[in-house]
Amino acid sequence: MSIEISNLCKHYTKKGKEIRALENISLNVAEGEFVGLLGPNGAGKTTLSKILSTLLLPTSGDAYIDGISVLEDKKIRSMVGSVFGESGGRSLYYRLSVKDNLLFYGTLYGIRKTEIKKRINSLLNYFDLTEKKDSLVMKLSTGMKAKVLLIRALITFPKILLLDEPTLGFDAESSEKAKDLLLEFNKEFGTTVLLTSHNFSEIDELTSRLILIDDGNLVQDCSPDLFKRAAGHQYVHIIFSLPPLPSDGLRISKLPTEIFSKMINDSAGAEIISLDPHDSHNFIYEAKIKPISYAFNETISRITVLILRARGEIFQIVPHMPSLKESFLSFLEINKQKERVHNKTIEEIFAMPLREEE
Ligand code: ADP
Ligand code: MG
Repeated sequence: MSIEISNLCKHYTKKGKEIRALENISLNVAEGEFVGLLGPNGAGKTTLSKILSTLLLPTSGDAYIDGISVLEDKKIRSMVGSVFGESGGRSLYYRLSVKDNLLFYGTLYGIRKTEIKKRINSLLNYFDLTEKKDSLVMKLSTGMKAKVLLIRALITFPKILLLDEPTLGFDAESSEKAKDLLLEFNKEFGTTVLLTSHNFSEIDELTSRLILIDDGNLVQDCSPDLFKRAAGHQYVHIIFSLPPLPSDGLRISKLPTEIFSKMINDSAGAEIISLDPHDSHNFIYEAKIKPISYAFNETISRITVLILRARGEIFQIVPHMPSLKESFLSFLEINKQKERVHNKTIEEIFAMPLREEE
């Protein structure tokens, strides 16, 4: 099932002041896509997920789940599975047992009791919660409640999953299990997933598309790889030697910075971030070089050729790929600068063009 979002706005009023939580968001998510929704606190992620789950009405605009408007809520609720992790399990019945919470939810959706019991048992077992089956929800730890919320969203085998911080409070092992399971749902059933998480490894490993919102605005929509290339600090770390320059034979501690920069610029289409002596007696240097004109691998081979041709030696050459988290943080920094130099598009500010090269 697909998601279509069209000029969606949500404004709240708080103490007489208008808060623009979502401003004209339009985007489509195709069936079977696994999308990560990222943004700083207060960006509007939960508001968006709640509108799509029909828990909130938009101020204007509309969104469609499989062609059905969220304004006609009833049908949609049975199509989507949602988790709002921030609420810490407050949407569960505290005085009911884990099993009864799940049974109640499952039967609401008209699934046969024997089938729902089977799914409950296997999911509780998967998340090591079988022992807690008969415990009251109020007796569970935060992490356990979060697991029950996720199980609840999954037992109906929904075609769309709207997961807003679903693994908040999960331990490392359960997080891994959740990742595997979500991927399986996506692959096996073609479930469309919109996942918000501050666990960047989750987003990085699972999603094939990132949607970033900041201050209610859609600010980026691209693949995680492209995002990392554009927003992150990607560079080549290299330790190498260059023979002394003829005119510089006596001043051996002087770095051939200018000449080397020009070489790297002209022939490798790259830019030097830093160049320092590593062992200046032996003309060994250490540099960080940022690819500009060519892809990463191409840049590395061009640098290699350049140094070898200059009769230098390479001792170490390591590509540094930024993590999604690093990229996200530097993106936010760039976005702040963007506000300062408004009118510039994010593409102009990024060092790399925001187009897939392939
Ligand atoms: P996120 O999930 O990205 O952290 P939210 O969607 O929760 O962001 O919130 C977006 C903005 O809307 C924030 O400024 C938040 O304070 C505001 N907001 C959210 N819910 C309400 C509400 N019920 N009343 C007033 N303001 C709200
Ligand atoms: Mg939120």
